[in-house]
Parts: sequence; structure tokens; C-alpha cells
Amino acid sequence: MEAQAMKHRSEVTEALTWDLTALFENKREFEETVQELQAKADTFTQQYDGNIKDAASMIEAIKDYEQIRKLATWIGQYATLPTNTDITDGEAMERARYIRNVLAGVSAKLSFFDSQLTANEEAVLDEVAQQAPEYAAFIRRVKKQKAVQLEPEVEKALAQLSPVFGAPQQIFEQARSNDMDFGTFTANGKEYPLSFVLYEEVYMYHPDTEVRRAAFDQFSQVLEKYQNVVASAYYTQVQKEKTMATMRGFDSVFDYLLMDQEVDRELYDRQIDTLMNDFAPVMRKFITHVKELNGLDKMTYADLKIDLDPEYSPTITIEESKDLVKETLQPLGQEYVDMILRAYPERWIDFPQNKGKRSGAFCSTTYEKHPYILVSWTDQLSDAYTLLHELGHAGQGLLSNANRSLLASRPSLYLIEAPSTFHELLLTDYLKKHTEDPRMERSVLSKMISKTYFHNFVTHLLEAAYQREVYKLVDAGKGFDAAKLSEIKRSVLEQFWGDAVEINPGAELTWMRQIHYYMGLYPYTYSAGLTIATQAFLKMKEEGPSMVDNWHEFLALGGELIPVEAAKVAGVDITTDKPLSDTIHYLDKSVDKIIELSAQIS
Ligand SMILES: [Zn+2]
Repeated sequence: MEAQAMKHRSEVTEALTWDLTALFENKREFEETVQELQAKADTFTQQYDGNIKDAASMIEAIKDYEQIRKLATWIGQYATLPTNTDITDGEAMERARYIRNVLAGVSAKLSFFDSQLTANEEAVLDEVAQQAPEYAAFIRRVKKQKAVQLEPEVEKALAQLSPVFGAPQQIFEQARSNDMDFGTFTANGKEYPLSFVLYEEVYMYHPDTEVRRAAFDQFSQVLEKYQNVVASAYYTQVQKEKTMATMRGFDSVFDYLLMDQEVDRELYDRQIDTLMNDFAPVMRKFITHVKELNGLDKMTYADLKIDLDPEYSPTITIEESKDLVKETLQPLGQEYVDMILRAYPERWIDFPQNKGKRSGAFCSTTYEKHPYILVSWTDQLSDAYTLLHELGHAGQGLLSNANRSLLASRPSLYLIEAPSTFHELLLTDYLKKHTEDPRMERSVLSKMISKTYFHNFVTHLLEAAYQREVYKLVDAGKGFDAAKLSEIKRSVLEQFWGDAVEINPGAELTWMRQIHYYMGLYPYTYSAGLTIATQAFLKMKEEGPSMVDNWHEFLALGGELIPVEAAKVAGVDITTDKPLSDTIHYLDKSVDKIIELSAQIS
């Protein structure tokens, strides 16, 4: 697990990178399409501005609007994807900036459309939904928008300003990926290179305690130097959200941010409260066992991600991942497996680690095109979890895109992490089935806890709990600085981990590590999605193939139904706390099983 000095983007193997020609053959075709988009937006405006009189003309307009949105999506992807693989590529950054402005211009031009749609009587909107059911979900959202729509001129100005509104996130991304120089650190008399990605993807899991803790200390010291600029960017972000909430008539920024998800405050609060209260004891029990097995003097925040049994951390190459993906996804049927395996020959995935590459992973699904997946492959089994996770988003995107209008293809954020975490559960299940050895079984179960649930039920939950406190401040009209953010973060960590973990200096700076804080109330949705995935997965184990059909149907829904209704299609009722408490109970039993296996092994 030695970290090597990182390659430049130009030195990586092209076959392991994603293929952008699926979007546009070359830059010329891209530029021509940019022209075409602008022309189409002009024509659209001439044709429809002031002319949407009845259901028939509205349906015609929605159809044309959908085509414009599709081109805009392709153009946006083509221009921004390269900035994720190399933030030091000035030309790519320049193109992305230029396109963001072009797209903002197009949005501003088309903003009359939202205004004129929402100006219609409910009866006319209902007629559209009836005559063109493929747009029913879009109309459902238009009706909600109707209540918060501002004057046309104001909407136009806001659309034009959208690149400016995106600035906080970009400032943060520049700070962490470009400006922060993490230098090197020394452990056991040896010097190690450090970067944001290396810390989060290698050293955080390092089996050598001295290396792991020294890396954390150096990492934290560099973060600290940037705390004021990042706090300012973040403050601007939440101020913007609060201002938008107020402008649109919301007393609370929470209700404004949840409106888009079509989720109410109760569902949101319950997810955070239940996990903070009921899941925390399970995790403390697990992490204490990890500490004992590893013979650690204490469990600090820097040690949280170590493996329960480091000797059972198998490596896996990119080549080997193909078979693993294929075998893991078998329960979802051959057709589904074949669809996902296209990822390799069609080069959906960007595997290499290189300088300037964004940390973490994502999947970007594109209407009528294949998905794009970013990972940084380090040959660890955890990379296979990440890849399968992202392929879960890909599967959902492909199925909903094939079955829905572009305007209804995206599920609510509340559901977005269900398909991805479902894949992770399948991976654990596959690995568990293929071992007789109690030590391997223990390792697989602990991976399920330390990877799938730690990530979704702990890491992102603690982000969510912290974020909730920040938004409460903002709702109360109070500001904050870096010190205040650190104080909130520390108190959330202490509340969750209790005496089981020493929250050592640097842990409080975790608020500087996640891009999610710039995406509204996103972090809590990881646990919401995983709750649905766990319940659906357990049902599949019990009920078999019939459940698989329900799951495919759920994936293909996209944004067709609101979260509560969509979860029902997957057989999960999220109107009560039962799915979450059942999931916590399942995890509690899994941790007991791990402890039992340990007794057996020793
Ligand atoms: Zn995800």
C-alpha cells in the first residue's frame, strides 16, 4: 500500500480513462452543437414566449424544451467532466467556465418558460398531465414551483447569475485540489508523500498506526491553514441558500431545501435523530472490537477506518474487477448484468490516479448517452465497493433514462443512494457466500460495516447532523466562522462516538473535507437510500426473484413518483421508522456475529 509520487494526467494509460467521444466525436462537433443550442433557444423563445395558451401548445413547448435540455446536458458534461480528471488543466477549466456562462445565458433566455408554465391555471396543467402522461411528473413539479415562483424578470436575473451562485463550491474545490500543498510526512524514519486524495484513499486506512496517525496530523495541519478561506466559501453558500429561501417565501431554509426532494421535515429529522441515538451504540461496540483486535492503545479519530483484520484486505486489479462485478450482480438477472458490463468496452470509467484529479468518486448519467464514472483505483477491495456503488447509479440512470422523459428521469435525492448501496450489499453477499473460512466471513461482515454502513450511516450522517446545526444557526439569523464550524463538528463527533473514540485534534476540521456541504441537504440522503436498499435486499433474500422485478421497476421510475410512493414500489414503507429500526437491528446482529466469530477464531 505504498503511495507513489503521482503521475501527470498526460502520463496515464488512455484505455483506463473515460471516453468522451460518446458525447461528441471531437471538439468541432461540440462547438457546432453549442451554436445549435443557442439557435434552438432563440427559436424557442420566438415561438413560445407569450404563446402558451392551452394544453396543446404547452405540450408542444415541453417537447421542444426537453430537446434543448438534452443538448445542454451533453454540452455541460463534455465541458465539465475533464475538469474532474485534471484541475490543473487550464484549457479545460477555461472551456468549463465558458460553457457555464453559455448555459446560464440559455437558462436565462428560457426562464420565461417556467414563469409562463406556472402562470397557468391548475386545471390546464392537469389537462397536460392527462394528455401527455410522460410529462405528469414534470407537471407535478411545476405545480409545486407555482407556489414559490418569483416575477419573470427576477427569475431571469437569477438564471443569469447561476454561475456566480456556483462559486462557493468552486472556491472550495480549488482550495482542496489545487492550492493545498500537503507536502510529505515522516513515520518510522521514512518520508511519505501526501495529498488530499492519498490521505482519503490510502493513509486513512493504513494498517501501520504510526504512518496513519502521522499522516492525519500533517493532513490536519495543512487543512487548518486554509480554514478561513473555506469557512468563507461555505458561509457564502449557506447565506445564498437562506436568501433564496426567504425570497421564495420560506421561513425556514430546511423547508426550501427539502422542497426539491419532495420530502417533509419529519422524514429528514427522523433519519438523523434515529441514527444519532440508536445506531451510535452499535458502532461504538464495533469500533471497540476493532481496537481490541488490533491491539491499539486507544481508538482515535485517525484510527477509525482501519480494517478489523488487516491481513484479510485482499487486493484487486482493474482487470479482476470485471469478473467480480459480473458475479456480484447475477441476482439482478443477465440482462442487467450485460447492461452494466458495457462499462468496460465502452470506457465509462476513469480509473487512474493522477495529479489534479478530484478525490472521491461519482457517476454522472447522461440522457441517451452512457454514464460517466470517476474513481481513483488503488487495487484495494474497497475500490471494488466504490466501483459497484457507482455502477448502481449507472444502472438506475440507464433504466430510468430508457423509460422516462428527460424531465422525469432523475429520482429525488432522497432515493438517489438506494441503487448504489444495493450493489454494495450484493457485493458483501457474494463475498460471504464464497467462503467457508470463519476468518474470511468475519472480514467480509466487517467490510460491510466498515465500508457500506460506515460511509453511509456514519460519515455522511455526521455530516448531516453537523449541517443541521449550521442551518439552524442560519435560520436564526446568526453567522459563523471557522472556529464555530469546528466547535459544531467536534460536538457532533463527541455525541456520536461517546467514550469509544478519542476525538483528537484535527478531527474538528472534517467540515473542510466534503463537497457535499455545497449541495444542500444531500448528506442525510445516503442513509435514507441505504435504509431502502437494506430492506429491499433483505426482502430479496427472503422472497427471491419476484422482488427483483420490483427492484427493476423501482430503478426505472426515476423521478416519476415522490419518494414515499417510489419506495413502496420497492416494497418499503418509509412513512414509519420501522425500516430504519429494522436495519439498525440487522446491523446490531451482524456486529454480534463478528464478535462471536472472533471468539471462535481465537
Ligand atoms: Zn452514491
